[in-house]
Amino acid sequence: MIIRWLVLTLLLVIAPLRAAAQPVEVLWLGHSTTRLTSVSGKVILIDPFLTRNPVTPPEYRDLNAVGDVDLILVTHGHQDHVSDLLELSRLTGAKILANYEFARNLVALGLVDENSVISMNKGGAVEPLGRGVKIHMVHADHSSSLDYNILGIRSPDANASVRQGGGAGVPVGFVIEMENGFTIYHTGDTAVFGDMALIRELYAPDLALVCIGGFFTMGPTEAAYAVRELIKPKAVIPIHYGTFPVLNRTPAEMKDALGDTDIEMLDVVPGQAILFEGSSPVR
Ligand SMILES: [Zn+2]
Repeated sequence: MIIRWLVLTLLLVIAPLRAAAQPVEVLWLGHSTTRLTSVSGKVILIDPFLTRNPVTPPEYRDLNAVGDVDLILVTHGHQDHVSDLLELSRLTGAKILANYEFARNLVALGLVDENSVISMNKGGAVEPLGRGVKIHMVHADHSSSLDYNILGIRSPDANASVRQGGGAGVPVGFVIEMENGFTIYHTGDTAVFGDMALIRELYAPDLALVCIGGFFTMGPTEAAYAVRELIKPKAVIPIHYGTFPVLNRTPAEMKDALGDTDIEMLDVVPGQAILFEGSSPVR
């Protein structure tokens, strides 16, 4: 009897620990779109641009193929970051976490209901998936807008708050701390800025997903400087390149610009998942 009780107790203690041991999965789906799966299986989708994204693998252009999503993060309102936002939120029931004005205006325009958004701002942190996964909204040096066609708004005059200049607010990046401490920095679209060093000092990201395509954002030279001198992660995944002819910079240029460094550049193709055990990619 005592042995049965001991075995049962051990199972109850060990089973959740074992379940919590799954690696963090980072699945880049092309451009800025990234799916993160936490150690306890929580799914975060950043910047949903899938059905019209030229570099998304065909199997992921069907939004149902993205699977369950618990939370959608929006870095800014440009169409190459939100074109599947509303549909994916409807399909999955996932809340949309975005800059205050962008999120509030989605509600004001009647596109989503009050309970479907988390409207926050830079400097803040939330744990909307329960304790363990913490999301910090951080600075990005870019622009933002509400794209009426993409969001299905026929009349830009539909709502006073939009007319009065609330618009899409400001662009942001995100730092996501997983349950096991593994920390990911997604830059969103940005120029390089000196306070990326502050992001490192505060959050020490293990992995950085960094835009390198140039023209609208950092190119490889600036991105390599940001990674090497300011963010100093253990690993970096280049994103936001190759989608359109104008984004013609490459990971090879990034690798060259990084030079001799301990920071590992993971040159992944859209649809290729990387697993992280602790803070290291699984080989
Ligand atoms: Zn973009």
